[in-house]
Amino acid sequence: MGLFRSHPHSFDHLIASWRTLAEIHDWTFDNLAGLHEEALFRVLIPGIDQANPERTCGYASASIHGDECAPAWGLLRWAEKNATALSESSGGYCLFPCLNPHGFQNNERRDETGRDRNRAFGDNETYWFPIWENEVTRYQFSTTACLHEDFDAQGCYVYELTRSDQRGDELLAAVSAAIPRDLRTIIDESVFLDGQMVEHRGATDDELREQVNERLDAGYPEAIWLYLEHQADSITFETPSEWDIEKRVEAHRLFLEHLFSSND
Ligand SMILES: [Zn+2]
Repeated sequence: MGLFRSHPHSFDHLIASWRTLAEIHDWTFDNLAGLHEEALFRVLIPGIDQANPERTCGYASASIHGDECAPAWGLLRWAEKNATALSESSGGYCLFPCLNPHGFQNNERRDETGRDRNRAFGDNETYWFPIWENEVTRYQFSTTACLHEDFDAQGCYVYELTRSDQRGDELLAAVSAAIPRDLRTIIDESVFLDGQMVEHRGATDDELREQVNERLDAGYPEAIWLYLEHQADSITFETPSEWDIEKRVEAHRLFLEHLFSSND
């Protein structure tokens, strides 16, 4: 079932599905940027408390790495299955269905300029970052989810940046109904325990900035940007790209469902 089986990298099918869903539920669905590969689609689910300026809303984005397609379909499936509850949440949601249209359509990690967009947050020379930043600055986020996949992964894992309680263990337990956690102790050169990155726990904001400067050549990933600049609890979720796509899509749905279960 699902368009992701027949058209896993069809940006048009993905966007058409979101447009239909948004129309049915009276959600706001806009393209904030240009045409085709320069599109930047954003879905706004207003929530019932939209008049309250203090409201906080949930944030999720998918497929900033275009060769990671299950996150985009998982985000869609989560919204479809929970549409009524999402509409009745107090703070609402700001969602970016696909942050790299060119990469998604062409099954490539990078965008049309050859850039890894997940190392370009804060770069006002790109066409998309200032538009994205201008949009997200309008909201106060409680929790943010960045959805990814990894070709080397042997299960699911999380990077968690939080000023409140850690939730990675509980979230990985919830998604294990679809895919179990990755038990490797070193993932992408970082130290992990039971599917959770542990080496940056307790790091100060300045230490995180230092790490970005030293290890990532000052190219900010979305999750770190959201944590530092938007004061959000930020969780990055990764599924193994080599697994069955149905299970990967389902894992992303389960992740979002549990992550935002308290966002009412
Ligand atoms: Zn990725």
